[in-house]
Amino acid sequence: MRHHRKNHRFNQPKPPQESRDDLIHLDFGTYICPLCGNVIADMTCAIAFGSESHPAHLDCVMNYYREREGLGPNEEITYIGCGQFAIASLKPQFKILRRIIVESKDHIPEWRKNIKQTFMSSFFH
Ligand SMILES: [Zn+2]
Repeated sequence: MRHHRKNHRFNQPKPPQESRDDLIHLDFGTYICPLCGNVIADMTCAIAFGSESHPAHLDCVMNYYREREGLGPNEEITYIGCGQFAIASLKPQFKILRRIIVESKDHIPEWRKNIKQTFMSSFFH
């Protein structure tokens, strides 16, 4: 047993800084948010915005509709998933007043297809 342990220690894995190249870097390409002009760091959270379904920050899209919709004092906008936001009243109880459909279900933008493909190729290469 003693001998085995000694051997094991001798063959210990390389320190982390030497194995950094093993990390998978997913490159989705660089996109600029049309609403704030900054780079979108997390493309998986981007919302397809506008008539050209350009990727935009979720927060920026939410702010855009918050201003455009003119919310009442007890109203808030919230992201409900699948490219949809909801205007909800908070008092006397939480109630969704109307939905804002930002992303069309029928049209998947090219950049989102690329994200899916990048994920697939990194998992199954
Ligand atoms: Zn933005």
